[in-house]
Amino acid sequence: MSKQRVLPRFSVGVGDRFAHQAKAQLAACIQAAEAGVDVIPVWNKSNREHTIIGTEPSQTRAAADAAVKSLGWEKPYFLDADHISLKTVERFLEPCDFFTLDVAEEIGKPARPEDVEAFLAAHPELLGSVSIPRIAEPFKTDAVFVRGVANKFLAAVKDAGKIYRLLVERKGEGNFVPEISMDETDLPQTPVELLIILAAIADERIPIQTIAPKFTGRFNKGVDYVGDVTQFSKEFEEDLATIEFAIKRYGLPENLKLSVHSGSDKFSIYKSIHDAVIKFNAGVHVKTAGTTWLEEIIGLAEAGGGGLEIAKEVYREAYAHAEELCKPYATVIDIDHARLPSPEVVQAWTSEQFTSALRHDQSNPAYNPSFRQLLHVGFKVAAKMGDRYLRALEANHEIVARNVTTNLYERHIRPIFLGK
Ligand SMILES: [Zn+2]
Repeated sequence: MSKQRVLPRFSVGVGDRFAHQAKAQLAACIQAAEAGVDVIPVWNKSNREHTIIGTEPSQTRAAADAAVKSLGWEKPYFLDADHISLKTVERFLEPCDFFTLDVAEEIGKPARPEDVEAFLAAHPELLGSVSIPRIAEPFKTDAVFVRGVANKFLAAVKDAGKIYRLLVERKGEGNFVPEISMDETDLPQTPVELLIILAAIADERIPIQTIAPKFTGRFNKGVDYVGDVTQFSKEFEEDLATIEFAIKRYGLPENLKLSVHSGSDKFSIYKSIHDAVIKFNAGVHVKTAGTTWLEEIIGLAEAGGGGLEIAKEVYREAYAHAEELCKPYATVIDIDHARLPSPEVVQAWTSEQFTSALRHDQSNPAYNPSFRQLLHVGFKVAAKMGDRYLRALEANHEIVARNVTTNLYERHIRPIFLGK
């Protein structure tokens, strides 16, 4: 009944925590099309965010469909069940057509010895000197190494296979885009590890269209990349080479591409990403999410009056409950508490002082990444305000939407996909 879901070359994940910005986000994709590049929107919202806010995936579907209809978008678009597992997948089954199978929890759990040995026997090509075209030096491996990698990842891949087969049973083969994510783990994967993982995924017959490895450096929520950009570029290109090779060698889908999680606001690596995908004629999926919620707060603050009051209240409450709010995001934020202004100070701020501290403009000396990160995890405060928050969004709809679209297009889509 539905057609094969194939993710096009360039796509951007967008998060819409309160289901009010889908149109403003889609407007950024329309701007991209006008500038000459198709960037397909994928609305993503994880189980964690739905649970914190108290929303259902079906609401995200309704908001996305309404935006598409209202703006007359005729290209594909998707709804991503982001970071789901067997335990959490149920409510995403009906509304979603993109599933990010999160296997981070299984990584490192020892695989069954007979599975490891079977994998080794099936893949003599991974032993010895492993040459990947477009990577200068061959990788040297031995049975101990491959066994170690298989032991670390095989249980996770088998687990992804279970979720994938459930999805096929419930949604029908080809009716959704499968992604495997392993970004929320401790160590980045090397290209040869990625190759071994892709071989295991192919063995498990999961036709993934995107894979999210963990990259080198820190990908904190809502702020710039922290790490060695040269090293990132090198590893990103090697990952592209590895994927290109694995598609041919293991028969994975032709459109298989990298997915960059926590991809918003990583301004210092966008040029590397752009240049690499052009060089390799590859695709890329970049997930953003919370950056849109921050633009809601920026828009409200910019509006002044009641909007600014709501923005200050969100900060005051976030400050009071910082520990609780930061906890689920502990590994992906880096807040310097000494740099957080007290709520009393913020209470006296003008619209401009508030937006200068919050907006991700590194050339503004008043920009405060700690302030920004605390508000990033502070959406639970707005969720608790309930209707009061939503009414403020609606009352200041235009100014909020302008910030959402500008942020997504100017600061994200343009540098990543247009390279300028
Ligand atoms: Zn992720």
